[in-house]
Amino acid sequence: MEKNSENLYILRHSTSHIMAQAVQNLFKNAKLAIGPAIDTGFYYDFDIEGHTLTEEDLANIEKEMKRILKDTLTFEKYQIPDVEKQIAEFKAQGEVYKAELLEEHKNDNPTLYLTKDKDGNVLFNDLCSGPHLENSSDIKAFKLLKTAGAYWRGSEKNKMLQRIYATAFWTQKELDDYLNFLEEAAKRDHRKISAKMDLFSIRDEVGSGLVLWHPNLAVVREQIENYWRSEHRRRGYVIVNTPHIAKSKLWDISGHSSHYRENMYFLEDEGTEYVLKPMNCPFHILIYQANRYSYRSLPLRMAELGTVYRRERSGVLSGLTRVTGFTQDDAHVFCTPEQMVDEINAIIDFVDYTLSLFNMKYEVELSTRPESYVGSLENWDRAEEGLKKALESKGLKYDINEGDGAFYGPKIDFKLKDAIGRTWQGATIQLDFNLPERFDIKYQDKDGSMKTPVMLHRVIFGSMERFMGVLIEHYAGAFPAWLAPQQVAIVPISERHNDYAKEVYDKLTANDIRAKLDDRSEGMGYKIREAFQEHKIPYVLVIGDKEMEDGQLSLRIRGIGEAGKIDIDNFIDKLSKNVRTKSQKLEL
Ligand SMILES: [Zn+2]
Ligand SMILES: [Zn+2]
Repeated sequence: MEKNSENLYILRHSTSHIMAQAVQNLFKNAKLAIGPAIDTGFYYDFDIEGHTLTEEDLANIEKEMKRILKDTLTFEKYQIPDVEKQIAEFKAQGEVYKAELLEEHKNDNPTLYLTKDKDGNVLFNDLCSGPHLENSSDIKAFKLLKTAGAYWRGSEKNKMLQRIYATAFWTQKELDDYLNFLEEAAKRDHRKISAKMDLFSIRDEVGSGLVLWHPNLAVVREQIENYWRSEHRRRGYVIVNTPHIAKSKLWDISGHSSHYRENMYFLEDEGTEYVLKPMNCPFHILIYQANRYSYRSLPLRMAELGTVYRRERSGVLSGLTRVTGFTQDDAHVFCTPEQMVDEINAIIDFVDYTLSLFNMKYEVELSTRPESYVGSLENWDRAEEGLKKALESKGLKYDINEGDGAFYGPKIDFKLKDAIGRTWQGATIQLDFNLPERFDIKYQDKDGSMKTPVMLHRVIFGSMERFMGVLIEHYAGAFPAWLAPQQVAIVPISERHNDYAKEVYDKLTANDIRAKLDDRSEGMGYKIREAFQEHKIPYVLVIGDKEMEDGQLSLRIRGIGEAGKIDIDNFIDKLSKNVRTKSQKLEL
């Protein structure tokens, strides 16, 4: 078998059989559920009555797998001749999950895979449709990673099973690279960095998925929002604000009451039902309705940093990247069909410009018309053509997800690539042929007739919460100067330098520089290390006798080290310029 990335799934899944075999060797009562390959490796779900798997167990299972693999084993496909008999056998063995699966697939020509030794003895069997490696000789580089709870068939109504996540590669080198990547990713975990830098918290008293932004992260957000507002104005958007709740009636008109219901929070007041808004779109349409438009007064580009709330199962919530309450950098463009391509082009430009500020690359996906859809075929064709034309004119490569668009329109997704190559859901541009019809909004065309405008939904960051989580991991907390929660730490060497240090602090603060005066009676080395390593502050100014005498400051730069002496006014000028230009580099 060729050792390529497609066959990697087969290697991984075959390795999951060896893992299951090892688990059953060590835990006689372990019942097997399922063990598929995934993008990052494979997992297997087990039901082990009375035992919770530990780190030590994982090490032992790995050892047992290596022992099993000392002999070359074969994986042999075996057509089940008598399904009812096999079901009964599974039940007798206590393999209730296998029995349930086989019951379901009894008419699909079900097969077992038999793991045999060189003498043909069956060491292990698993209900499985394959495919597998022919034999185990290629299973060399694997690693068991972690355990997690997982409901049988993903339903909370079922029993919680124990899942072992693991991975496998064709070579040890590939495995080592992947393990290094995991280590780097763990170091960048935004929840861990938050604990060191005091960025945010999520409290049980508030609720999972609801974020408290601490001052250090709120200031990063403020910088990004400032950019966001001024850049929107520059690009011809109007900015609006809308309420957090609205009567159910509004969501009945928009259709969310029926197709989005399970994600919505409901409130009740004096017999009237309200909804905590899951989307900003209906409000923006109502603002559109407040005026009359002609083809000449369009496009109308309306933006809002709108906070929405969407119910999620608490199991999927995590840090800043999966939340229930979040602020979208939302905008809706209302335009004529003729203006659509230009508008899409302008949004792609906006996304590209914005992501380049953060040194972020991205991948693009286009999702097209699904089988059931609303709107005219003509508009769909025009829209898909328009999205393609816009992407091509920008020279952007993109993948097409055929038939994967929403029923109400095609869309473009931008997947952000962070500093270590992971991808994250980012900007989207979504065409909508549905809401303008439902709200019956109009504009007057050249010939005097009233027509329905095209509506584009668009976010650039997606949500401020998720983008911030991605940004923290992208920079590993070491923000460029324009974003850094604190830009400068002032470190007086001893107490007699404190007054002068305070003067420097006041001057920086008066010049809009986010400074921190560290006049604790700790050693200088300790304070500098803490500023750079723990708090990731870009600049440290050290003040001692010499610095007081000649009125110069000793500058140190994060990641660079000592950068010589600098006059305070010169420092302020240079740092201000670095911030103004949103430089990615810290050198002044
Ligand atoms: Zn299998
Ligand atoms: Zn929208």
